[in-house]
Amino acid sequence: MPGAEFQAAKSVFMGAIGVVHNAALATPAFEASPKHGYSRAMRPDRLNPLFVAADSLKGVGTGLARPLERLGLTRVKDFAYHLPDRFVTRRAVADLDQASVGENVVVGLTPVEYRSSAGRGPFRVLAADEAGNVCAITYFGRNTGWARKALPLGEKRWIAGRLDQYGQMLQIVHPDHVSDESGLALGQLVEPVYPLSEGLTQGRLAALVHQALERMPDLPEWIEPGLADKMQWPLWRDALELAHRSEHAAARDRLAYDELLANSLALMLVRRDNRARAGTPLHGDGSLRGKLKLPFGLTGAQSRAVREIEGDLAQPSPMLRLLQGDVGSGKTVVALEAMLLAVEAGTQAALLAPTEILARQHHETLTRMAAGTGATIALLTGRDKGRARESILMGLLDGSIQIVVGTHAIFQDAVAYKNLALVVIDEQHRFGVGQRLMLTQKGRRAPHCLAMTATPIPRTLTLAQYGEMDVSRLDEMPPGRQPIDTRVVAIERLGDVIGAIGRHLESGSQAYWVCPMVREQENEDLAAAEARYAELKARFGDSVVLVHGQLKGEVKDAAMERFASGAARLLVATTVIEVGVDVPNATLMVIEQAERFGLAQLHQLRGRVGRGEGKSTCLLLRGEALSETARERLALMRETQDGFRLAEEDLRLRGGGELLGTRQSGDTPFRVASLEQIQKLLPLAHDDARLLIERDGGLTGERGEAARLLLYLFERDWGVQLLRGG
Ligand code: ADP
Ligand code: MG
Repeated sequence: MPGAEFQAAKSVFMGAIGVVHNAALATPAFEASPKHGYSRAMRPDRLNPLFVAADSLKGVGTGLARPLERLGLTRVKDFAYHLPDRFVTRRAVADLDQASVGENVVVGLTPVEYRSSAGRGPFRVLAADEAGNVCAITYFGRNTGWARKALPLGEKRWIAGRLDQYGQMLQIVHPDHVSDESGLALGQLVEPVYPLSEGLTQGRLAALVHQALERMPDLPEWIEPGLADKMQWPLWRDALELAHRSEHAAARDRLAYDELLANSLALMLVRRDNRARAGTPLHGDGSLRGKLKLPFGLTGAQSRAVREIEGDLAQPSPMLRLLQGDVGSGKTVVALEAMLLAVEAGTQAALLAPTEILARQHHETLTRMAAGTGATIALLTGRDKGRARESILMGLLDGSIQIVVGTHAIFQDAVAYKNLALVVIDEQHRFGVGQRLMLTQKGRRAPHCLAMTATPIPRTLTLAQYGEMDVSRLDEMPPGRQPIDTRVVAIERLGDVIGAIGRHLESGSQAYWVCPMVREQENEDLAAAEARYAELKARFGDSVVLVHGQLKGEVKDAAMERFASGAARLLVATTVIEVGVDVPNATLMVIEQAERFGLAQLHQLRGRVGRGEGKSTCLLLRGEALSETARERLALMRETQDGFRLAEEDLRLRGGGELLGTRQSGDTPFRVASLEQIQKLLPLAHDDARLLIERDGGLTGERGEAARLLLYLFERDWGVQLLRGG
C-alpha cells in the first residue's frame, strides 16, 4: 500500500476503514475466499485523480503536511470536499462614510503615513479615502517590510477587510486583500471561509481547493434521475464547484445526499451479505453464567437484552445486534453474559474497545466479575510486544484463551483465533462500519456481532449508522442512581469552584476536571489544560493527575490507574475520558468552557459521575459572552439527564443553522452531510438505495456501475467487495 495513501487513511475518521480494510486484505483466509476476492487495484481508474496524495498539489510542502492532516486533508478529493463553513460578503463602498463599523467592505484608500509603535505594538498605515476620512490599516507582528511594499505612500490601493473602530479611529486589521486594481478586490465580494487549523490561512487553503476542483473528473450520475430533477440538484462536478462559490443549498444538499446514499447502499449490502452467511449457532448450558457472582441483580432491561442476544446466538445466521443504552445503564455485564455463553458453547469471544484506557478497564472489570467462572480472559493492545504478545497470540490460536479484550490490535492480520464465534464492539460509534465488517471476517464462519453504544442517537441517525442491525435498548437505569446536580457557573467564580473541589477531596471523594480540546485550537487548548493542571497541582499536590490524548500510552495508563485505584484524587483531562471510564467514587465533575462542547458530548462526559450511590455534582463553567443558543443548550443540560432528549434537542437547536455545514466531530459517520441534511435527506437515500438493490442487486447496470463509483468515492468500498464476483 503506498505510503501516502496509508497516511491519508490514518487521519480521517472514515479513512480509518481503509487501514483496517487493507490490513484485513493481508489475511489469507480473506483473500482465499472467492466471494470476498478483492483488491484495492479494483478502484476504477477514473477515480485515481481524486485519491492522489495532497502533496501533488502545488504549494504543499512538508510545512503544510501537518496542518492539512489535522483537517483530514490528505488526498486531492479531501480538498474538493472541504466545504466552506460560511461566506463573507463584502460591500464595495466609494468612501468610508458609506460603511458602518463591523461591516466587511472593499474600499479605495491612499496611504498617507506609516506609524510604527515601540516594542511589540502593531504597525499602522494611515490611509485616506476619497472623502478625506482617515483609516488605519493595522498589522501585528514584526515584519513590516511587505506591508510597506503593498501599501506605498501616495498610491491608491483597493482594500478588502472588516471595518473596525480603535478608540476614535477607524481601522482595518490585517486586510483580507490589498490590490492595486479595483477588479481584483471587487471580484472577491463573496468569499468562502474554510475551517482552518494552525499554520494555514484562508488564502492558502482556497488556492489548494481551487487546484483540486480543476482536477475533478466528470462522473456518471448515480442519483435516480427523477429525484435529481425534482430537487433541481446540479451534476456532481458542478455541485462541488458551486458549493465552494456561494451558499448554494441545492449543491450542498446534493453532495450530502451522495454521501448518505453511499452509506445506505453499503449498509444494505452488508446486511444482505450477513443474512446469506453461515454462522455458528451457540447453545450455552449455563455452567459458567451460573457461577457468575454479581453484586447486583440485572435490571429488567438488561435481562431482556440478554434474552434477545441468547435468541440470536442460537440461530445459524450470525447475529448483528446493537445494544444501545445511555451512559451507566450497564452494558458491560450484558456483554459478559453473552461472552460467557459463547465460552460455554466451546467457542471464543472478543471484546473490542476504542481506546487503550477503556480496554484495560474492561479487562479488569470482566476479570473481577468473572473470577468465579474459571473463564480465561486476556488483554491485547497495540502496546503488547515480544514474548507477552506471542503468548497471547498462541493462546488465541490454541483456544486456551477464551475471551480477549483489546483495541483494534485484536483483529490485525497476525491475530488468528481457534474458533472465534462472538465479537463485542464497545462504544461502537467510534468505529466505522468497515471495521466492524472486517472484524467479522475473522472466523471461518461469520462470528456473531454485538455492538454497544451509549451515544443517544436520534432515530433518524440510527438508521444511518445502524441500518443494518437489530437493536436492543437498555431503557432502564440500575436502581439507586441519583440525579446529577448540574449547575452552570460563570468562569469568574473559578476561585469558588476550586474551593469546592478542595472540600470535596477532603471529604474522601474524587473528582474530574475536564478541559476542552477542539481541533482548530489544539495547541492553545493543550496549553490551557496543562496550565490548569499546574495550577490545581500547586494547590492540591500530588493527588492531581493529568491525562490527554498527546501523552504516551504508558503515561496515560499510569495516571488512569492511580486515579482508578484512589491514589490520585483529582483527574484533569481532556475529552479522552469521554467514553467508558468507570470510577464510582468520583462524584464531582467540572467542565471548563462547557459552551464549546456538543450536548451529546457533555452528556457523555457527565455520565462519568453519578455511577455510585453517592450524590454527584456537575459544574459547567461557562465563558463570559454566550450566544442565545449556547445559553439554551447549557440550560437544557441542567434540566434533563435523558440522553435521547438531549440528542433530539441538540439537533433542534443546531437546526437554527449558525453555520452552513453544522458538521459534527465524529458523532456521525459523515463528513459532508450535516445533521440537518441527514434528517432531511436520509430517508430518501435509504429508499433510493433499497430500490436500486432490488432492481440491480449486483450493481451491474448503468446506474449500478455509477453507484459503485460512489461507494469508492466515499470509501465505502467494503460495500463493493461484498458483491458477488467483486
Ligand atoms: P455502561 O452502559 O455505561 O457501559 P457500565 O456497564 O459501565 O455502564 O455500568 C455502570 C455501572 O453500573 C458499573 O459500575 C456497573 O457495575 C453498575 N451496574 C451495572 N448493572 C447494574 C445493575 N443491574 N444494578 C446495579 N448496578 C449495576
Ligand atoms: Mg461502557
